[in-house]
Order: sequence, then structure tokens, then C-alpha cells
Amino acid sequence: RPVLRAEGLVKTHQGGEGAPAHAVRGVDLSVRKGEFVAVTGPSGAGKSTLLHLLGGLQRPDSGSIWLDGECADRWSEARWAVERRKRIGIVFQFFNLVSDLSVADNVELPALLAGVAPKRARTERAELLGELGLAGKERSLPGELSGGEQQRVALARALVNRPPLLLADEPVGSLDSKGTREVMRLLSRFHQRGQAIVLVTHDARLASAADRVISFFDGRIADDAELDGGPPPR
Ligand code: ADP
Ligand code: ADP
Repeated sequence: RPVLRAEGLVKTHQGGEGAPAHAVRGVDLSVRKGEFVAVTGPSGAGKSTLLHLLGGLQRPDSGSIWLDGECADRWSEARWAVERRKRIGIVFQFFNLVSDLSVADNVELPALLAGVAPKRARTERAELLGELGLAGKERSLPGELSGGEQQRVALARALVNRPPLLLADEPVGSLDSKGTREVMRLLSRFHQRGQAIVLVTHDARLASAADRVISFFDGRIADDAELDGGPPPR
């Protein structure tokens, strides 16, 4: 059973002025457990909208999404919020950390919201931050960290509940080359341990870290290619 499946996704944005933007025009997509999929394509192609649809942050005009075989079409916003915490980690270009909470609290928050016991949330947080090389930064505020460090905190926050799927929307788009290397290395490491990842990037070089590259163009999948001669996408 795929960790994520989408069928016939369509999304049109009604801009305030001007013509509506047909951002996603009919997308079928299936992501297997542990698969690393890059979605690449030019700015405005609809990649970000697609990722928002897959994470339930925006609702499609039509089409369906299944998470681990369970259809999400009738989920309310509240239900999506609950399911996201368990099933989907999300990181964005601009980390979206809570600026007046410490690094430790930012990472623990989703665990506590998911009902994890505080002691266990602390353990998970400490383990992840240690692994991401941020053990010494737990008491810092996000604004005191470099961009690469902030994105690592955002990764820790996204993964603290051990979701089977990570959605990443241009996660290195605002980082320098060092930060980019750090974050890409971590994505690869998590992937090697079985984390499924959907990485949206306009940078074809970053896409080459994935198992499979989907070229997105004008709201549609223009090409879908396995990189390592693995089994074909289904
Ligand atoms: P990409 O991530 O590939 O750059 P986006 O999904 O951000 O593409 O955008 C696809 C199209 O939809 C663009 O024309 C963009 O301007 C438009 N768009 C995206 N989000 C919105 C929104 N919230 N409101 C109006 N138009 C939007
Ligand atoms: P990115 O391509 O890095 O995702 P965008 O500028 O496409 O950056 O999107 C940033 C946010 O703004 C997204 O939440 C998107 O939905 C929204 N957005 C993008 N284009 C438009 C637009 N034309 N009008 C309104 N909101 C938009």
C-alpha cells in the first residue's frame, strides 16, 4: 500500500484581480513507503500548490487523496490537523518556527499536541536534536541560529512524531551552500532509514538526490522517472 496516493487532483486559485491561476490541472501520483521523490519544474508550475494539497493545507477543487490507504476526502480541517501530526511532517522554505519559543520547545510542541507524554517528548526531542547536531542549541531562540540550523530545527519538528511521510517545499531555497549541503545530507540520511520524502525544488541538481524525479510543468506531471533503475512507479 502506498504511503500516499492522489488521483485527479485539480486546484484553481481565484486571485483577487486578474485571471484565476490553474495551478494543478489533474495529477495522479503514488508514493511508496520509504521512497524519495523530487518534484521539479519552473517557478509557477504549481509544485507548491501540489505539495499543499498533498499535506491537506489546501483543498483540491476535485480529486482524492489517500494516506496509507485511508481516503482523506471527507476529513475536516481539524481531522487533517490531527492526522498530519501523526502521518506527515512538513518543512517549508522559510522555516516557520515559533520565534519566541526555544529550539527545544519548537521541536517538542507537535509531540505534546499529539498527546505524547512530556517525558517521552523530551527524550525524542533530545535524541533528534543530538542527531541533527543541535544538542548545544536547545535553549536558543530560532532567531539566534543560522538559516541552516533553523532548517534543521524545522526538520526535527517535522520528524518528532516519526511520520511515514515528509513533505519539503523548497527546504534549502533560502540557505547558503553550506546550509544546503547540511540539509540535503540529512534528507538523504533519513531516507536511507526508510523515511518517504516528497521534495519540491526548482533546482534539478538537488532533485538528483532522489530515487525518482517528477517534472512538473503547467500544473501537470510532464515526466516521471526512476533514477536508480528501481521498480517503476505505480
Ligand atoms: P510553484 O511552486 O511551481 O512556483 P505555485 O503552486 O506556487 O507554483 O503557483 C502556481 C500558480 O498558482 C502560479 O500562477 C501562482 O501565482 C498561483 N498561485 C499559487 N498560490 C496562489 C494563491 N494562494 N492565490 C492565488 N494564486 C496562487
Ligand atoms: P514558493 O514557490 O516558494 O512556494 P510562492 O510565492 O509560490 O513561493 O508561494 C508562497 C505562498 O504564497 C504560498 O502559500 C502560495 O500559496 C501563495 N501564493 C503564491 N502565489 C500567489 C498569488 N499569485 N497570489 C496569492 N498567493 C500566492
